[in-house]
Amino acid sequence: MSDAFPAGAPGRDTLDVDRSDPGHRAWLKDAVRKVQADSNRSADTHLISFPLPEQWGVDLYLKDESTHPTGSLKHRLARSLFLYGLCNGWIRPGRPVIEASSGSTAVSEAYFAKLIGVPFIAVMPRTTSSEKTRLIEFHGGRCHLVDDPRSVYEVSAALAAESGGHYMDQFTYAERATDWRGNNNIAESVYEQMRLERFPEPAWIVATAGTGGTSATIARYIRYTQRDTRVCVPDPENSCFFDGWLRGDNEARVEGSSRIEGIGRPRMEPSFLPTAVDRMMKVPDAAAVAAVRALERAIGRRAGGSTGTGLWSALKIVSEMAAEGRTGSVVTLICDPGDRYLDKYYSDDWLAAQGLDIAPYTRTIETLLATGDWTG
Ligand SMILES: *Cc1c(COP(=O)(O)O)cnc(C)c1O
Repeated sequence: MSDAFPAGAPGRDTLDVDRSDPGHRAWLKDAVRKVQADSNRSADTHLISFPLPEQWGVDLYLKDESTHPTGSLKHRLARSLFLYGLCNGWIRPGRPVIEASSGSTAVSEAYFAKLIGVPFIAVMPRTTSSEKTRLIEFHGGRCHLVDDPRSVYEVSAALAAESGGHYMDQFTYAERATDWRGNNNIAESVYEQMRLERFPEPAWIVATAGTGGTSATIARYIRYTQRDTRVCVPDPENSCFFDGWLRGDNEARVEGSSRIEGIGRPRMEPSFLPTAVDRMMKVPDAAAVAAVRALERAIGRRAGGSTGTGLWSALKIVSEMAAEGRTGSVVTLICDPGDRYLDKYYSDDWLAAQGLDIAPYTRTIETLLATGDWTG
């Protein structure tokens, strides 16, 4: 024990090390202010109504997260992760921030890194859409592409160790960096915007999972505010979340990577909270594409594939409620805009190359919207 004390003062003096650094604190305060100011300049995202026959007694809404300054729901996550990393003392001036990302998080983090003046490196699978790579570089970030999607975590940690930078690790920290009790998180915002609707408390909120952070935040907020809303998480193909949740297996794995960018993971991510999820669905990727194209016909807006996965699932729930004569509302999300995926979900060549036939799913949706019957 006395080893810890400087020679000559064994056990008598108080060991006292002050590492405060006024220069760093001034930088930190300014960086936090810049992130908060970005939020202060921003408006809330819209809650859009999806047209359904009023006599069904079931209303469907889409929380439009594509209108954030960086175009996706990852703007919220990136803001939370930067504030968490700054306030923890993990993000330092001049040191790079590194992230393992399938794209959208990296786009938003590149934006915040530039805002506070630190370098940014995104580690992503080579299959990430070229438009996302372009957006990351537009915001001043650098893209480090890897062949094996499962290696993004180790490659990011190694780059951080080499450079003295900070590996943000969205898949671990998404659930805890987000202020789930309120502070205008996505759930609080949805409930506030539902206030004047005919069914203000949604029967279901449908949220897809990438990090799992959004569904965890929504589910926790619902329980914390003692509401009855249930949470459904639809999972795409090539993802282990559904099986891991079903079997209670946190070691669940799948080979390959999800075709629906932003969602579906090869491992059970630490930020995915299975016990907070009421219900899951495994949605075929072709159904997701059919749904996202139906969205454009219904509201004139294009969105990414994950929006389609969520919308398919939400429509299935709407059809059940209508069939059972249960009134109420269902809320799902527009996660990001479709213009990032013109060469994927909006390309018939891509569908053919992937062997995806959306026709039967398109018929299911059209039949539902015309008759209220679910034939899928
Ligand atoms: C990240 C992401 C999701 C899922 O959100 P999480 O909070 O990470 O689970 C859905 N869609 C898109 C486009 C995303 O980028």
